[in-house]
Amino acid sequence: MRLFIILMCIPVLAGCTGSAYQLPTVDDAALQAMQEEMYANRVPLKMYHRSDSKYEKMLAAIHNRLVENAQPLCDHAGYISCLFQISYSGGNEMNAYASEDYKITVYRGLLQYLESDDEIAAVVAHEMGHHLAHHNKEKQENIATGAAVTGLLAAVLVGASSANNPYYTAYNQQQDAAAVQDMMEFGAEMGSISYSKEQEREADLLGAYLLARAGYDLDRAKNTLVVLSKLPGGNDRSRASLTDTHPASAERLVAWEKAVEEVRSNHSKLPYLKEEDNVESD
Ligand SMILES: [Zn+2]
Repeated sequence: MRLFIILMCIPVLAGCTGSAYQLPTVDDAALQAMQEEMYANRVPLKMYHRSDSKYEKMLAAIHNRLVENAQPLCDHAGYISCLFQISYSGGNEMNAYASEDYKITVYRGLLQYLESDDEIAAVVAHEMGHHLAHHNKEKQENIATGAAVTGLLAAVLVGASSANNPYYTAYNQQQDAAAVQDMMEFGAEMGSISYSKEQEREADLLGAYLLARAGYDLDRAKNTLVVLSKLPGGNDRSRASLTDTHPASAERLVAWEKAVEEVRSNHSKLPYLKEEDNVESD
C-alpha cells in the first residue's frame, strides 16, 4: 500500500516546477554523437591534491570574480542583489549545493577532481544559477505539496480501512495517526530530494551566462560535466545537487554545448525568457 501511495505522488511532485527561461533542446543525432564521444573518452578521473586553505582561497577568488560580473543577470532574474555567500567544506562528499537565501557550499570531495579555475567556477556558477532561477523556493513548495498530498492520501486510505470496522479501537486510531504522520514526512522528503532535470538544465544555462560574463573559458568549464558523468552518486540524498540528483548525462552535456553556443551568439548576454513570459510583458 505504501508503495502505491508513493507512486501516486511522484507525478504530482514532478509537475511542480517550470523553467522561466528558454532551455536548449537536445536532438537525437547530437545525443548519439555525445554518447560516442563519452565512450571514446572513458579515461579514469585524475585527482588534484590541494590544501584546505588553497581551496578556500580559490573559491573566494572565483566567487568574487563571478559576483563582480553578475549584477545584470541578477537584475534580469529579479534577484534583489548578487550577495551570494560561498562556503567550503573539507568533507569527502562529491557535491555542491545551494541552500537558503544566497548560500552556496562546495565540498572538497568534488573539488579534488577539478583541474582548473574554469572548472571550479562552473560548479559555483551552476549553484548561483539555482539561486537566480529561484529553484529552492520551488523545492520548498514541492516539499509542502509532497507532505500534503501523501498525508491526504494516507488519511483517505486509513479512513477507508476503519469505516464499518467494528473492531477499530482507539489503539488502531493512534497507530493510524502515526502512520499518516510518517507518510507525510516521507512525502516531504520525496519533494526535497532533487531538482528536476529541467531545473538542472536551467542552472547550467544561467551558469554558462555567469561564466561568460566573468570571462571564464566555457570549453574548459564543460569538463566539470564530464567529471560529474564519471563520478558515482553522492551520499547525502537530502541535499541533492550536482552529483546525486541527475548525474551528468550525455543529454546534459549536449544541452551544455547548446547553451554555450547561445551565450556566445547572444550580444546582451542575458538569457531569453520563455515566449509566454515575453508575450505577457509586452
Ligand atoms: Zn544542480
